[in-house]
Amino acid sequence: MSVFSHKEFDNHEQVHFFCDAESGLKAIVAVHNSNRGPALGGCRMFPYASDQDALTDVLRLSRGMTYKSALANLDLGGGKSVIIGDPRKHKSEALLEKMGRCLEQLGGSYIAAEDSGTSVPDLRVMGRYTKNVAGIVERTGIDGQPSSGDPSPATAYGTFIGLKAAVQHRLGRSDLSGLKVAVQGVGNVGFRLAQHLHTAGAELFVSDIHQDQLDRAVAELGATVVPSDQILTLNVDVIAPCAMGAILNDEIIPQLKAAVVAGAANNQLAEARHDAMLRQRGILYAPDFAINAGGIIDIFYERVGHTPEKVTAHIETIADTLNELFDRADESGRPTGAIANELAEERFATRHQMA
Ligand code: NAD
Repeated sequence: MSVFSHKEFDNHEQVHFFCDAESGLKAIVAVHNSNRGPALGGCRMFPYASDQDALTDVLRLSRGMTYKSALANLDLGGGKSVIIGDPRKHKSEALLEKMGRCLEQLGGSYIAAEDSGTSVPDLRVMGRYTKNVAGIVERTGIDGQPSSGDPSPATAYGTFIGLKAAVQHRLGRSDLSGLKVAVQGVGNVGFRLAQHLHTAGAELFVSDIHQDQLDRAVAELGATVVPSDQILTLNVDVIAPCAMGAILNDEIIPQLKAAVVAGAANNQLAEARHDAMLRQRGILYAPDFAINAGGIIDIFYERVGHTPEKVTAHIETIADTLNELFDRADESGRPTGAIANELAEERFATRHQMA
C-alpha cells in the first residue's frame, strides 16, 4: 500500500496506523496540516472494502478539514481518523477504549469528534482515556436548547446565513418571503435549515427517503413533498442539498433551474470541474466546505470557552467569507469553489501565531 506516493497524500504531516488484536481495532489517523493549530476532525467507523480504501478516505477527509477550518478562520488544523469495521458488528467498549489510548499517544496533534459510524457516547468512552476528543460536553446550544454536542443546529444556522448571503448576491434580495427553496434531505441539518427558511417566509419543497421526515416537514413547515429524482431540477430559486455528496454532476447541472446552490451536504461537486460548469450556467454555488462550517465552529468553542453568543457571532462570519468568495469570483471570472480553495490556502499557508 503506497502512502507517500498515494494520489491523495498531498504532503500530510502525519499518518498513523494503529492495530490492537485483542479489541480488533484497526485505525488510521491522518494529520494534513497543523499551521493554524491542532488538527480537529471526525472519527469515522466504516467497513472499508480494503485498507487502501480506508487510507484514501482518511487522507481526503483530513485534507478537507484543513480547508474547512482555515476558511472558517478557526485556530485549527485539519485531520481525520478512520476505524476499519462495521459499527453495528465490531464496535465495543474495548475497541473504543483502545482508540482513546491511541489518540492519547498522539499528544494532542489530532483531536477526534463524532462522525458517521461513531456517536457522542462513543467519543465519551474514548474520552476516558484521552483529552484529545471534542464535541462531547453538554452545553447550551446556539438555539438556547441543551445540547449534548450535536453540531447540527450550528451547521443548519450557518447554512441559513450562507444561503441568505448567496441569495443577496445572486438575486439582489434580502427578504426571503416567497423565495422558493428545494431542500434535498430533511434530516438533522436539512430540517433545521428548513425551519429557519420557513420562519423567514420561504416556500419549501422537500425530498427525503424516509416518510416520517417528510411528514414532519409537511406538518410543521407546510412544505411540499417532491419525488427524490425531481428535487434538484425543480423550478425554484435555490436548491439546498442536505443529504449526500456528488449530486452536482454532468447529468444534473444542465437540468438545474435554480439560480443558487446553497446546502450543507459535504462534497457536492462530483468532480472539481463541475464548479466551472455551474458558473458557465450562471448558477451561484456556495462552496460546501465554506457554508457548512457551523458545526466545526461550535465544536471549536468547546475547547476555548463556549457561549452561544460567541459561537453565533463566529458562525455569522460565514456570510463575510462567502461574500469575499463571490466578489473574487466576479472580479476574476472564475468559479467559487476554486476561489474558496485559494482563500483557504492563503489562510493556512503560514504557521499561525497562537494567542
Ligand atoms: P442526516 O442523516 O441526519 O440527514 C440526511 C437526510 O437525508 C436523512 O433524512 C436521509 O433520509 C436523507 N436522504 C438520504 N438519501 C437521500 C436521497 N437520495 N434523497 C433525499 N434525501 C435523502 O445527516 P445530517 O447530519 O443532516 O447531514 C446532512 C449532510 O450535511 C451530510 O452530507 C453531512 O455530511 C453534511 N454535514 C453535516 C453536518 C452536521 O453538523 N450534521 C456538518 C457538516 C456537513
